[in-house]
Amino acid sequence: MYKAIWDTETGGVTLQNYKSDETLSVSPRPVFYEELDLLGLDKLPDGKAWHYPHCKEPLLWACNKQYYYKGQFVFEAKGANLYDSATIVLQPGAESLTLDPVNVKEMLERCKDAMFHIESEAIEFIRSTYEQYSRNKLMREKAQANQIDFETLAAKVEKSQKKKMAIVKEDCESFDIMPMDQAKDAGKLIYQTTAKIDVFLASFSGGKDSQVVLDLCTRALPPETFQVIYADTGYELPTSISLYKQTQRYYRKKFPSLVFRLEKNHESVLNYWDKIGTPSDSHRWCCSVMKTAPLYRSLKVEGTNKQARVLTFDGVRAEESVRRSSYNRVGKGKHTTVFNAHPIITWDTIEIYLYLLEYDLPINEAYRMGKARVGCIVCPFSTSWDDMIVNKVFPNETAPFIKKISEWSKEAGVKDINTYLKDRKWKIKATGNPIITRTKVEFPAAKNYSFVAKVTNGKKRLYDWLPTLAAFSVIEGEKLDKGEIQFMGIVYPFRVEHDKDWHNFTLKIQGADDSRLVYYLRRIINKSAYCINCEACEVDCPTGALSVVPVVKIDNNKCIHCHKCLDFHDKGCIAADCIRMIEDTNKKVSAKVQGYKTFGMREVWLSEFFADPEAFWEDNSLGTAQEESFRAWLKDAEITDTKNMITPFGKYIKGIYQDDMYLAWELLLINLARNSYIVNWFCYNIPVGHPYNKKSLIDMVTEEGTSAATKTIDNAVSALIQLFKNTPIGEEFKFYESFSNTMNVRGSYDMVNEKSIAYALYRFAEEQGTKTLRVSELYSADYKESPVKIFGISKQAFMRSLHTLNSTSNRVLIAELNLGLDHITLRDDLDPLTAVMSI
Ligand code: SF4
Ligand code: SF4
Repeated sequence: MYKAIWDTETGGVTLQNYKSDETLSVSPRPVFYEELDLLGLDKLPDGKAWHYPHCKEPLLWACNKQYYYKGQFVFEAKGANLYDSATIVLQPGAESLTLDPVNVKEMLERCKDAMFHIESEAIEFIRSTYEQYSRNKLMREKAQANQIDFETLAAKVEKSQKKKMAIVKEDCESFDIMPMDQAKDAGKLIYQTTAKIDVFLASFSGGKDSQVVLDLCTRALPPETFQVIYADTGYELPTSISLYKQTQRYYRKKFPSLVFRLEKNHESVLNYWDKIGTPSDSHRWCCSVMKTAPLYRSLKVEGTNKQARVLTFDGVRAEESVRRSSYNRVGKGKHTTVFNAHPIITWDTIEIYLYLLEYDLPINEAYRMGKARVGCIVCPFSTSWDDMIVNKVFPNETAPFIKKISEWSKEAGVKDINTYLKDRKWKIKATGNPIITRTKVEFPAAKNYSFVAKVTNGKKRLYDWLPTLAAFSVIEGEKLDKGEIQFMGIVYPFRVEHDKDWHNFTLKIQGADDSRLVYYLRRIINKSAYCINCEACEVDCPTGALSVVPVVKIDNNKCIHCHKCLDFHDKGCIAADCIRMIEDTNKKVSAKVQGYKTFGMREVWLSEFFADPEAFWEDNSLGTAQEESFRAWLKDAEITDTKNMITPFGKYIKGIYQDDMYLAWELLLINLARNSYIVNWFCYNIPVGHPYNKKSLIDMVTEEGTSAATKTIDNAVSALIQLFKNTPIGEEFKFYESFSNTMNVRGSYDMVNEKSIAYALYRFAEEQGTKTLRVSELYSADYKESPVKIFGISKQAFMRSLHTLNSTSNRVLIAELNLGLDHITLRDDLDPLTAVMSI
């Protein structure tokens, strides 16, 4: 929040509320003797070794990996990783330095006013948030003094208007009820919301930020009004566990009534690695499974199994990421029963440390060793620098995780494991025991049945999870069950063929045309196939109907079919998603790309071809290698078949090419995204706004763990860039926009022709074996190869196109997009090409 500058007198920093030439661009962290020892500053060769006391105070400061002593840049640490120590690059004159500790007392004195200001603001925020959400007695009395039960009234208005309401205090000292968003926009003093919070928490993670928030909570609230809760993930740093114990002792002395709780998942984290693989950049399942689920699952409304509504004061700070900087200060958490409040969202690193020093609070030893962020021992979000520290300080704790990553990566085809580990490539894509990918879910098309799901090597019976969907009855046979399920007032007959142990089963339903039914059925199937009782979705059940440990149980008297446990996570089940990712990693890249050599398809080639497709191969302007490449592109675009004959699709494209070239190229692109490895890879892996160049694309394809040779990948990426440069795909469809001198960027292309939208939807539906889709699903991570990702079309533009398609006279789809619906139903009598031709 404040701007930090060096203070050469104290050897520390001071804070000022304006920017100047001296303002530090990176908020510094203190450096202690333990870190210098670990980096070997006291053992530098050739008489350069440093001398410093082993004291409690910091000795110098670090901005990233650059170290400053009394405002002078003295050395840089470079190139650390799991196995290699950092290289120390001393600045001239910084040899054999003798260090004095920072004068902490004087530094704090000089920062006193600034710190008082931010502390007071945070304490006031905690208090007012508590009062707003706690049905604070004082406020209630005030409202009652107005002779109106505002609380009941607000709840009623909220129900009828389906909007979150707030009770606000007007200038004339009276109370009023208004929508929460309007109240916030108008800057009203919110006395109470209709969200009823049962438990207030100060979350404790072992990190510096949550340590500060906990202390602020103890200053803002009576100790009886909140609890301190710590989730032990099973691969916590040993220093975090000991800090928790130390913190507990520290506050218990001051506030004997303050409740501390330590929660854990019922299974060990290594067991989960065996069952669902490693966490990765795009999927940190361990945060939900090992941390938030056990933590919130333990909080029930007193005397019931019902999940308590919780508000957690946490240590989220905007400085930590761009995404976090856009957070509201109070908002919904990961689970439907959880709210989060961020008292120190605007604080910088230096302010956090100044607070810890000012109040002499216990500090995680890992910070003294040089970690900038305290997480788990092995974490996709940590850095090579963190790897160096944990492997040096806690080799025994790190070893079992590294062993598993090594074994599974080897099995997935990674050759140089050492480099793979050092470069942290394991975090890009999940790996896991290949056995777990034996579970399969398929949704094949079948005659007479609108929904068919086949599960192989599943974990649960269908009937374990089906009760969450709707009421059903079933007559069970030895291998065949027949039943009926009633969903939204309609009865659907179903049959299930299964083996004795339910490892394999096939569910078939007639007339399942309701896209909501299909959506939830898919999630029931995922849960039945993959559920390993991880606890994560249980927290979202608002009624206490669901419990998953030791077995999945749904209390039919309590289940209200709200489907929150099904809406949880992209696939309805965190384990289903993990295993899908591992399957993706294990897929080997096809060598199909070799057919293009280094040539991209060109617009001039296609024009020449369409001028006379039959004569083209006898006489054309292309060289031999170019001709060979063009043949491969035409096949992948489905313009020609395996015998090089023009297809019905090719004839249609030829017919429209002169008049509507862009439509032709949009349709071609949809086919290429399906058949061409490299176009497919680009469409679904490079999001809109992502800058890239040839090298970064090659690196990304290589990091996928592909089995293709480096040269093959290089050729494929060259061909792709040529395609962008020589066809409308690059410039007009914005795949290849200029970003900087060396980089291009993918833009959003919203001008997609409605015919192309219809073609893409029909093709996608054909692959999925369904005629019903949902807009929200197409934009979710559920479908990695969603048709909307081919063009990077925005949701708004896509919805506009759906409205147009829905209102044409010979409509090829029904789009129900009002009143919160987002359903798309395609016609049974059309295929992708006939759909386009009908418009
Ligand atoms: S979340 Fe909803 S659907 Fe699921 S078990 Fe609980 S009440 Fe039933
Ligand atoms: S269904 Fe729920 S409890 Fe079971 S593995 Fe999936 S997320 Fe975990």
